[in-house]
Amino acid sequence: MDSAFALYEVDLHCHTTASDGLLTPTELVYSAAELGLKGIGITDHDTIQGWKEAKEAGANCQIHILRGIEINSEWQGKEVHILGYEVNASSSILNDKLASLRKAREQRMLEILDRLKIQGVRLSVQEVQQLVPGESIGRPHIAQALVEGGYARSIQEGFDRYIGIGAPAYVPRYKMTPEEGIELIRAAHGVAVLAHPGVQRLADGIPSWVEVGLQGIEVLHSEHNSDDERIFRALAKQYHLIATGGSDFHGEERKPGVKLGHWGVSLEVIHQILDLVRHNQVVE
Ligand SMILES: [Zn+2]
Ligand SMILES: [Zn+2]
Repeated sequence: MDSAFALYEVDLHCHTTASDGLLTPTELVYSAAELGLKGIGITDHDTIQGWKEAKEAGANCQIHILRGIEINSEWQGKEVHILGYEVNASSSILNDKLASLRKAREQRMLEILDRLKIQGVRLSVQEVQQLVPGESIGRPHIAQALVEGGYARSIQEGFDRYIGIGAPAYVPRYKMTPEEGIELIRAAHGVAVLAHPGVQRLADGIPSWVEVGLQGIEVLHSEHNSDDERIFRALAKQYHLIATGGSDFHGEERKPGVKLGHWGVSLEVIHQILDLVRHNQVVE
């Protein structure tokens, strides 16, 4: 590998155009292949729409695709993101819930646009919608529309001035509890992994989440420092959870500095997850 930065074998946290990433599933998989990665996890927000295309692209370039999803919940005023790997795509409990989560996202967008109007920002639903290639709309799309409409110079400024927490057009999103999120993933036979727990300092929640079926912790992540890695690796060991890792790649223009494959784990972790999926099915 000619990169000065050693890449991991697999990056298990990546977003595509199915939610708020900039690359299509095919582009993402080919980028990973070009970097020499052995596998990637597709973890779009509230949708599994990108899976099929990613699998097809993965078959073309011998990259292992771990199918995942990222869902959001709230605990003690903090955002808790949960990754669900290899959930059953035909689970009706899961699909009904995902449909209602996406509906809530659309509703939230309309409320944000109303509040922006009060701030003198005139963005139409169409102007935002045209920036959403997939089925899961998110705030980064609105931030992009703010940039394109000349209201902000960057995505970050769009969040800071208008739609981030504490900004005038911030609208909180529909909230599940972490327990509900974990139970949903387990009901769909998936493996539930706590995403980037260092970002919101979630260590205290872990014991009760393990009780309802949490099976992994994302130890390596682009927003974790070495203390986070140490703390959450120890907790994973203590509770016999899989230690996963990924960059949270969204495309470099959307999340500058977050490069594919620069955070991750070894290929072995994909096998650990797939073993658990088989085990979860038997237990059910
Ligand atoms: Zn997240
Ligand atoms: Zn993510």
